[in-house]
Amino acid sequence: MINSSLKTLAQMLANKEISSVELTQTFLNRIDAYNPEINAYISLDHDRTLAQAKAADVRIAAGNATALTGIPIAQKDIFCAQGWKTTCGSKMLENFIAPYDAHVITQFDHAGAVNLGKTNMDEFAMGSSNETSYFGGVKNPWDFSRVPGGSSGGSAAAVAARLCAAATGTDTGGSIRQPASLCGFTGLKPTYGVVSRYGMIAFASSLDQAGPMAKSAEDCALMMNVMAGFDERDSTSLNREKEDYTRDLNKPLQGLRVGLPKEFFDIGIDPSTKDPIEKAIQKYQELGAELIEISLPHSSLSIPVYYVLAPAEASSNLSRYDGVRYGHRASEYTDLMDMYCKSRAEGFGAEVKRRILIGTYVLSAGYYDAYYLKAQQIRRLIAQDFEEAFKKCDVIMGPTAPSTAFKAGQKADDPVAMYLEDLYTIAVNLAGLPGMSVPAGFATSADGKPLPVGLQIIGNYFDEARMLNVAHQYQQVTDWHAQAPTLDKPEGSA
Ligand code: GLN
Repeated sequence: MINSSLKTLAQMLANKEISSVELTQTFLNRIDAYNPEINAYISLDHDRTLAQAKAADVRIAAGNATALTGIPIAQKDIFCAQGWKTTCGSKMLENFIAPYDAHVITQFDHAGAVNLGKTNMDEFAMGSSNETSYFGGVKNPWDFSRVPGGSSGGSAAAVAARLCAAATGTDTGGSIRQPASLCGFTGLKPTYGVVSRYGMIAFASSLDQAGPMAKSAEDCALMMNVMAGFDERDSTSLNREKEDYTRDLNKPLQGLRVGLPKEFFDIGIDPSTKDPIEKAIQKYQELGAELIEISLPHSSLSIPVYYVLAPAEASSNLSRYDGVRYGHRASEYTDLMDMYCKSRAEGFGAEVKRRILIGTYVLSAGYYDAYYLKAQQIRRLIAQDFEEAFKKCDVIMGPTAPSTAFKAGQKADDPVAMYLEDLYTIAVNLAGLPGMSVPAGFATSADGKPLPVGLQIIGNYFDEARMLNVAHQYQQVTDWHAQAPTLDKPEGSA
């Protein structure tokens, strides 16, 4: 059951083979057993969760269930959920109880889904390993000595370890796709503006986008049906007609034009990752796709551009944490300025402070033109590269991450090595395009452990239904996405 698709779970609920309370309890039992070790969840509230499951059972019995009614979902702790502690992985918000629901949370509530708990994440979503979280690192379920990726590391570990049926994440530079690659499941970052950012704690507002993290493309499509849609409370939410993201899943791929950016295979990619990616692309050829070499000439600039723009936006967004209205306030201070300084010095971790400093610097009067403006200009060129590429192909494929999951601590003291984790994902955010990661095989670590490798699929604006189709067809002829790590029985259990 823990391995079942969302569709199967919905059928089991509809046929009364299981109740939502039983299903939810199954996941809660696994969470109780494994979470102390894996640390995927920051906040749990079994009573609230089970009350939602009970309500879902009533709704199912009344015959007005949706595709996700009664399904237990893990929510990244970046989404405000009324009455839930919402920390964003930071000491700054350690005791913050959200007074309202994020749009994404409301959407899941309306669908009758069950909120299993709030998942661990890098502090304010800054990181690629979950190691910047104030609440501690998260273990990769495939190998507990390795990181799950980040920043949505808790959601990633929860999906991989089957501590939820599916989860939500957010992706500013790769935080859905890179952990999906490192933990071996399917994750989608939608086109910017498709999912409302209302109530989603802001990191870099022009890049942040929420999306589904689930076992399969089909599950992601069902999640998208709930998450996507216009919301007037987010000024960048796009007013488009509601879509059914499952509509194209079964289309054959004959004639699909797959663009392969030469830059994605030339630099940075580890040989162990390259092999499964090449095999996956071959598979697409067997499914009738045509391979086309393309170029994204400015892609090597995406990391430097991102590390000007994202910190600039973050420095502005994070100025609201001043110890006045909510969040951490220093207990001792001499005057107002001292209170601001001490509250921020105590409340933020090292990576967040680094970004605030960079952001403030690049926005300062003397450097704005040299850094911020220049980065905005290159951002446009990066988007134009994709525009050109999509004249020749329908989707773009390549690796999601340069390598498989790395050891905890391995890159924690080397910010640049950490930033390179998003080498292939960041350009997609800068252009506002949709991107996903699909399990494409395993590479064996030096100590003999199978570690997942993700194939990245990048689509044109609003082409999520096609990308899900492309991923789903691959998942009909491969079973990488269906594989789950074997977890040791927790200590003390029977
Ligand atoms: N790893 C990138 C960063 O630290 C991206 C994080 C994200 O997508 N939220 O900024």
